[in-house]
This record gives sequence, structure tokens and C-alpha cells, in this order.
Amino acid sequence: MELEDVMCSAKGCRAAARHVLVWNNPKVHTPEREKTWVACDEHRSSLSEHLDVRGFLKRIDPLRPVCAGCGASFPAEQDFCPVCAESRPGSCGSRD
Ligand SMILES: [Zn+2]
Ligand SMILES: [Zn+2]
Repeated sequence: MELEDVMCSAKGCRAAARHVLVWNNPKVHTPEREKTWVACDEHRSSLSEHLDVRGFLKRIDPLRPVCAGCGASFPAEQDFCPVCAESRPGSCGSRD
């Protein structure tokens, strides 16, 4: 089993997303409502600027990888799923 990469929200971009842009449009959303876009390293600034100039951007979080095996999400710096201990692609067999 492999961990699935989430694709960047930028139009036409198929790179793996690394950041979550959390935003909210006060005209249509209640303050506690959180909308999210995901962005790769390349599109993080352009997508966040697009939201920021409208005053929509709340914060940018690191994208947590989601295990394709069990669906658990975990910190990006961790290289395996803590729930089922499935290694991420490329790290297989490299752990002691
Ligand atoms: Zn992108
Ligand atoms: Zn898992």
C-alpha cells in the first residue's frame, strides 16, 4: 500500500501539495467556517496572495500526509503511518 499524494489546487498543476491554505469569505461564510485549498511549493505564494488580497486568508498549515491504507493523517515530517506503520514510498526497507 502507498500513501496518496494530494494534488495542488492550482489550475493545471499536478504537483503534490505540501501546504494547506485555510481561508474564509466573511461575506458568505460564518467566522468559524474554514475553507481549504492545497498548494505545492511553487504555487503556495500565488494562491495565498490571491486569497490575501481579498482578505480571505486565515493561515497556511503544512499538509499532513494521509495514509492510503487506513486513512489516518499524520505530521509531514514523519515518514511512516503511526496507525498501521505503513512506510511512505521510497522509505520502504530503510528503517531499522
Ligand atoms: Zn502547484
Ligand atoms: Zn495507516
